[in-house]
Amino acid sequence: MPFEVTILGSNSAIPIHGRHHTAQYLKIQNHNFLIDCGEGTQLRLQKFRLKAQRLEAIFISHLHGDHYLGLVGLLSSMHLQGRTKDLHLYAPPQLSEIITVQLRYSQTTFQYNLIFHPLEMDETVLIFENSKITVTTIPLQHRIPCVGFLFKEKQHPYRIIKENLPDDINREEIIQLKEGKDVLDKNGKVKYSLKQLTHPGRRSRSYAYCTDTLYIPELAETLKGVDLLYHEATFLTEKELWATNTYHSTAGQAAKLAFDAGIGKLIIGHFSARYKDLSPLQKEAQEIFKNSHLAIEGQTFSISS
Ligand SMILES: [Zn+2]
Ligand SMILES: [Zn+2]
Repeated sequence: MPFEVTILGSNSAIPIHGRHHTAQYLKIQNHNFLIDCGEGTQLRLQKFRLKAQRLEAIFISHLHGDHYLGLVGLLSSMHLQGRTKDLHLYAPPQLSEIITVQLRYSQTTFQYNLIFHPLEMDETVLIFENSKITVTTIPLQHRIPCVGFLFKEKQHPYRIIKENLPDDINREEIIQLKEGKDVLDKNGKVKYSLKQLTHPGRRSRSYAYCTDTLYIPELAETLKGVDLLYHEATFLTEKELWATNTYHSTAGQAAKLAFDAGIGKLIIGHFSARYKDLSPLQKEAQEIFKNSHLAIEGQTFSISS
């Protein structure tokens, strides 16, 4: 089952040097999500052959234009192409008004339900949950309210070793084993041992998306053990003061956070227009956290199970 993120855009502020505004396509098992939707995102989806109509939800981090100006175009195209399936939009509350105004003056009514979920921007909130995955917000520190998102698979069930199962075990007892519990008898003694009858379930995977933020050292706790982290790295350390003044981070700070949180792999992005060549940013990050990678557009980062 896939757990993979494809980079659609990686530049901050203005699109330049062949790089585009921020957007990412995330596939988790049979769920398809879009994270941020900078200008031109629908063309980026076409270029990389990713299907907008398969999207189930879109998550918008904040209302700076480089993160959402492609949204109304994408929503309109889905309508024109005959979408009828519901689409969930998780975004700062004010985005609802922005969309409404744009649709009002073109007298457009979508033929699908756009279900708007206003985000609480100052608190960590569980915003999406089903039997397989959860999505939680990560409040960030930026010039305007901004949140990141933590996508996590739920604990996978224990796998039953069929050949070891006793003949008289019943359905409820099997469910208990799958949930990771020993089956006890009336006297509280172990009747069926989890250890003897199961293998542990598949590892749960996780992805954290943290864009447009000051360096927040305390996030290491929230991000502990995450498999894959995308963190903005708008500048090099030599511009750290400028980064702080504009509420952004450096490649070194992103890497320090990755190191402190003990994550698996780091992707840095949201590059400043001042860097045509991105290799100094990668080098700076890798000196602190070896498994650091650039958010190259079109590249897919997979987490194996
Ligand atoms: Zn930005
Ligand atoms: Zn911003």
